[in-house]
Amino acid sequence: MHGRPPNADDRAGYDYQSNAVERPDLAAALRARVDGDVRFDSYSKLLYSTDASLYEVTPIGVVCPRSTDDVAAVMTYCASEAIPVLPRGAGTSLGGQTVNEAVVLDFSRYMTDIVSTDPDGRTATVQPGVTLGSLNETLAEAGLKFAPDPAWGDKSVIGGAIGNNSTGAHSLQYGKTDAYVEECEVVLADGTVTRVGEVALSDLPELAAGDDLESRIYAEVARILDEEADLIEETYPDLKRNVSGYNLDWLVEDIRGAARGVGEPDGTGETVNLAKLLCGSEGTLAIVTEATVSLEPVPETKSMALLSYEGLLDAVDDVSAVLEHDPAAVEVLDDVFLDLARETAEFAPVTEMLPAGTEAALIVEFYAESDADGRQTVANLLADRCPSAEPGDVASPAEGRTASDQPVVAFDALEAHDEDERARIWKLRKSAMPILLSRTTDEKHASFIEDTAVPPENLREFVAEFQEILEEHDTYATFYAHAGPGVLHIRPLVNTKTGREQMESIADAATDLVVKYDGSVSGEHGDGRARTQWNRKLYGGDLWETFRQLKTAFDPDWLLNPGQVVYREDDPTRMTENHRVGSDHEVQVDFEPTLSWETENGMAGMVELCHGCGGCRGDQSTTGGVMCPTYRASQEEITTTRGRANALRRVMTGDMDPDEAVSAEFLTEVLDLCIGCKGCAHDCPSEVDMAKMKAELTHEAHQQNGATLRDRLFARVHTLSRVGSALAPLSNLATSVPGSRYLLERTLGIARMRPLPTFCRRTFRDWFDAREQTVSPAAADRTAALYPDTFTDYSNPDAGKAAVRVLEAANVHVTVPAGVGDTGRPAFSKGFLDRARNLARENVDALAPLVESGRDIVVVEPSDAVMLQSDYRDLVSGTDVETVADNTYGVCEYLDTFSLDESVTFERATDDVTYHGHCHQKATAKDHHAVGVLRRAGYAVDPLDSGCCGMAGSFGYEAEHASMSDAIASILLDQVEESAGECVVAPGASCRTQFEGSDRTAGTPQTPIEAVADALDE
Ligand SMILES: Cc1cc2nc3c(=O)[nH]c(=O)nc-3n(C[C@H](O)[C@H](O)[C@H](O)COP(=O)(O)OP(=O)(O)OC[C@H]3O[C@@H](n4cnc5c(N)ncnc54)[C@H](O)[C@@H]3O)c2cc1C
Ligand code: SF4
Ligand code: SF4
Repeated sequence: MHGRPPNADDRAGYDYQSNAVERPDLAAALRARVDGDVRFDSYSKLLYSTDASLYEVTPIGVVCPRSTDDVAAVMTYCASEAIPVLPRGAGTSLGGQTVNEAVVLDFSRYMTDIVSTDPDGRTATVQPGVTLGSLNETLAEAGLKFAPDPAWGDKSVIGGAIGNNSTGAHSLQYGKTDAYVEECEVVLADGTVTRVGEVALSDLPELAAGDDLESRIYAEVARILDEEADLIEETYPDLKRNVSGYNLDWLVEDIRGAARGVGEPDGTGETVNLAKLLCGSEGTLAIVTEATVSLEPVPETKSMALLSYEGLLDAVDDVSAVLEHDPAAVEVLDDVFLDLARETAEFAPVTEMLPAGTEAALIVEFYAESDADGRQTVANLLADRCPSAEPGDVASPAEGRTASDQPVVAFDALEAHDEDERARIWKLRKSAMPILLSRTTDEKHASFIEDTAVPPENLREFVAEFQEILEEHDTYATFYAHAGPGVLHIRPLVNTKTGREQMESIADAATDLVVKYDGSVSGEHGDGRARTQWNRKLYGGDLWETFRQLKTAFDPDWLLNPGQVVYREDDPTRMTENHRVGSDHEVQVDFEPTLSWETENGMAGMVELCHGCGGCRGDQSTTGGVMCPTYRASQEEITTTRGRANALRRVMTGDMDPDEAVSAEFLTEVLDLCIGCKGCAHDCPSEVDMAKMKAELTHEAHQQNGATLRDRLFARVHTLSRVGSALAPLSNLATSVPGSRYLLERTLGIARMRPLPTFCRRTFRDWFDAREQTVSPAAADRTAALYPDTFTDYSNPDAGKAAVRVLEAANVHVTVPAGVGDTGRPAFSKGFLDRARNLARENVDALAPLVESGRDIVVVEPSDAVMLQSDYRDLVSGTDVETVADNTYGVCEYLDTFSLDESVTFERATDDVTYHGHCHQKATAKDHHAVGVLRRAGYAVDPLDSGCCGMAGSFGYEAEHASMSDAIASILLDQVEESAGECVVAPGASCRTQFEGSDRTAGTPQTPIEAVADALDE
């Protein structure tokens, strides 16, 4: 959390909750016992009713504890009332283990401290809500890390990693979370607070001697180890990764002194560690309130090869031979996934790097002591597994290198030694699941058998037979992920509304197949609601009974996340129950949408695109990107894109009153805080566009409830600016009259501390009309119509002048088109879609003929450029719209796209600048252009991996949003302070206002085009 909570300001009109509170008595009883938040309102309950799985169960209520005492108080009270309790982290689980009819304890809200680190002893003690990303960020200074690396580790937390026994792509090297959890403070099912960790076997009888819950737990563990160790050893599959059932095999290995590569037990067979048993227990045995974990050194460097195959079977067949080279990770990607990735804006450039004909690929990563070392390892691998590949530019294969006797099947390969390149490939791999779920139809690559594991040498037969199962079920799947340890993410295409029986039948057959190949139904994501059903078949009736006895010993009344891992006979967990989407599931809006939703399968299709992965919970420092600034500032689930999409879905399915979506409360708590930055449209791997949905719903709310005067004024900021300019300088003085800003806040709700835009009497157009053209159309390389957007025309003509100077220096003939002005951006953002559409139509009518006569449309203000390029397509239809949209450019985008600035002579500028891009440009992947142009103009540029500035058009001006806006800004200002740049350059007018109003930066930044113009050699 950055600075004050965003709703701490008196003017902030939101508390993230609804007024509809259920079970007020229970809520009051808990509130009397805890310091943390107790939320039993309908919005909070719906937010915690889903996770990243197919499932949905409405919880009883939500508590965000602040301390172990809070947790113990909740558990003690709930135990006394026989109320189930569910500990939860980021809710990114894929099996449904984080939804239940229970009181949810959300650890990610407050219990996020890194209690202590001990670099010498290589341990850290943390609260359960700390994300793996932020823990590793803290540890980086000491060259250490928490080694398990689940793909979503920058969003998911330690408590969740323990609950699921998580691991990631580098499990070949590091194993799972159980290898690193040394000791835990826990709250037991009766509210007892205790610690579990390593104990001597000789101490077990004494620990088990009492009559309290803790003693009974030790007694049962001792019994199981005494009576069932042989059965456990024989039955558990011999895999690097198995997270089905309880982690009893670890304890048996402990007492038998088994040696492991990682997290090695002392090998004496004299100790046992119950903290390991909690790993993978999915919140069903005890609640972790603090964990001490061991750490690993960060490798010096890494190297990577990407091997190309003609098909999936070839790729998985090659895994065993690749493993002989001792890689840290081996991941497989198949054709189904690669084809989908090729269609996304974000990943198409990455897939383009792949050699032609790549139908499947293995990503092979090595840890290395040095760059040369890494290159050598890759060269050795390629010499063995893909000799036809072009050798890397440095290393040639070493003498005596590993050479497998398996036939070569890879037909080509590429190497990635550069960190950014490797990061791009990993991002592609890690976004596989959300990309797969980006279909807007009911048929989706659903997650229900998606992490089967078999020994790698069995992969080929396993995959081939799995494909037969799928064919028998009239479908196909994508196969990807951790081929090295034998874990495949298999996602069959099924109709999520009508295909439950089909899913169950596939899962049943898949369980038989993993049993046949000595595998497990879950090598990664845990049992949850999707796989608990199969544990009896996987482990047999005797061990199933053992699981039940263990559960009963820990949790006599089965109150902790009941139904996961193991179930009671009278209450079986069926994978077909509690699906979020059922055959009668109909997502619809009961008004006629105004925007075009054709490509999204209707507005409903867009809402359903959100599958709950939690990607929008990422922290700026660990994930970068824009999405979702409001969550980053507030850490509240309701302010994530996921939270908003969930709320909208519940309204649109009729689970909530349909009028709710346009009610004042819903707009305030759910939609108002979406600042419309469009970050999700780009950063969400499924491209959920919440800004567009917000515009649609706000429009409908205006139709039903009318609009406020302030909204109407902001929507007409162009008219206000025109008047302000005509009356300047008087208009500028008006707001400096003492008391005027206070009055504006009281009457219109415009935050008094924000600098208001000032207006120039002489507009950009006035200046342009009065000047001589310096480039004749006949001699010009290109001709451009420079759009006089509102801010450039009336408030910052200097930016327009700079654009003209630079364009003309690049031999572009520039005109300023008549008959255009307001692009409609403010009206669109404020939900006045009829006005925005009329303006779009007028502007398209004026601009299309210009484009047809050979002119390009160039815009200085980024949000206006993106309005023409992107949002017009949703507002109006016709080829002229497409023509205008396709030929509109931001000014730096224009220079960069056509390499126009390369012919310009610049005096070498000396400034080091910090560049903060505009979110709308980031959302449309156009942000990089300005950086390239500034660099060619001679600037040393530090492009910030920044999110939104928090102003977002009018958002930051609104008094009730000012504190949220400040909280978002402070993330950006932290980045600016850390940057080496001497001054900031920012293209967006709102962003520059945010900087201008801050006492943490000096003055108002220039636009990039002004900085480029300053560097001209004139
Ligand atoms: C796109 C995507 C990629 C993923 N990739 C991976 C991957 O590479 N590897 C992997 O292992 N998983 C992966 N997952 C699954 C998931 O992200 C991980 O298992 C993650 O570690 C879960 O953490 P969380 O904070 O979201 O926990 P949650 O989902 O909130 O909880 C997970 C389990 O832990 C329990 N739990 C949470 N806190 C506590 C506590 N304090 N005490 C006791 N129990 C608790 C919960 O009850 C639940 O059963 C992925 C998920 C997604 C959406
Ligand atoms: S909005 Fe996107 S990133 Fe967020 S949970 Fe939904 S699908 Fe995932
Ligand atoms: S538009 Fe921006 S603020 Fe709104 S949900 Fe998307 S990322 Fe979050």
